[in-house]
Amino acid sequence: MIYADNAATTPLDQDAFEAMRPFLTTEYGNASQPYSFSRPAKKALADARETIAHCIGALSEEIYFTSGGTESDNWAIKGTLKEGGRKLIITSKIEHHAVLRACETVNHLGYPVTYLPVDSNGIVQASTLQGIISENTRLVSVMMANNEIGTIEPIKQLTNLAHKNGSLMHTDAVQAVGHIPINVSEIGVDMLSASAHKFNGPKGVGFLFIRKGTDIHPFSDGGSQEFGMRAGTENVAGIVAMATALQNNCSQLTDTASRLKMMEKTFLRSLDEANIDYIRNGDKNHLPGILNISFRDASGEMLLHRLDLQGICISTGAACDSIHTQVSHVIRAIAVPKEYARGTVRISFGKYNQIADASAIADAIIDILKKRR
Ligand code: PLP
Repeated sequence: MIYADNAATTPLDQDAFEAMRPFLTTEYGNASQPYSFSRPAKKALADARETIAHCIGALSEEIYFTSGGTESDNWAIKGTLKEGGRKLIITSKIEHHAVLRACETVNHLGYPVTYLPVDSNGIVQASTLQGIISENTRLVSVMMANNEIGTIEPIKQLTNLAHKNGSLMHTDAVQAVGHIPINVSEIGVDMLSASAHKFNGPKGVGFLFIRKGTDIHPFSDGGSQEFGMRAGTENVAGIVAMATALQNNCSQLTDTASRLKMMEKTFLRSLDEANIDYIRNGDKNHLPGILNISFRDASGEMLLHRLDLQGICISTGAACDSIHTQVSHVIRAIAVPKEYARGTVRISFGKYNQIADASAIADAIIDILKKRR
């Protein structure tokens, strides 16, 4: 089996697995309890918060554990809106559905939402935001890196504009955290969403960075966990594993990125040598390892299923969306020509892939496309 769908989810880091094990077996104390048996759990949460904060240049009290990217996005968007005062939300057309659907919900509650277009590389231009942002804007939410095409957005520039206007800035960094260097002090965002399973941590756990002093409602009411902002007993094992996975990935960022770039090159060279007609989407400034390719007069879905028969896992659009066969909102937003759009696939390599995987996938695709003719 070759797994090349790391933008959908990643395999668990072995150290992360070992780190979580005691909290699933012997150290099962509830971190909120005052007796000594619960101390290891409480300390593990504090250590994990510190580790994660260090990896993204935050203070540990600015890290709030959540159940993953979707929850973090929903919290950032719904939690910052208030009756009275500024009401407008500005987001982009290529956000993940966790952001888009949260925006639709608040829109139905009476908060206007504006969707920023992107250029053909999937980049939100700062000048576009400049032309739209107004005194009524409460929140700007633009993703740090796109999950389908991997484009990295100019978040620092967009944040400066948002702040100049007195708006809050959120970024969905689910695809970026643990893959590219991130320092929230340098970028200046007020909120940043992350999800452990995208950086070799376990599923169902993530965090929201909330800059100290940001005006946001609690996510849930109940116990006093997460500084009284997100009630509910913490997923200690998941949180510990998330911190270990993030630390491991961040300590190897440069090496991993150069290996992933080699895989990209190997894959594309094979396509070129076989004279395959394709477009690489989001080619300009993208996450290492993500290849979004549109093949002329092909079907992405057909490719996915034929590769599946050979034990190769890739994606046609966003994984969460794989029941829909229509051209994704991202591919539409970057205006991929019609004769290519339907033949779009996403191959996303991760730290456990080998260069040989890139060649094998390219060979398999070339074979399928040539046989089809
Ligand atoms: N945001 C982006 C950009 C994503 O890629 C995903 C997952 O595909 C999410 C949010 C949702 O994250 P989770 O699966 O942790 O809920």
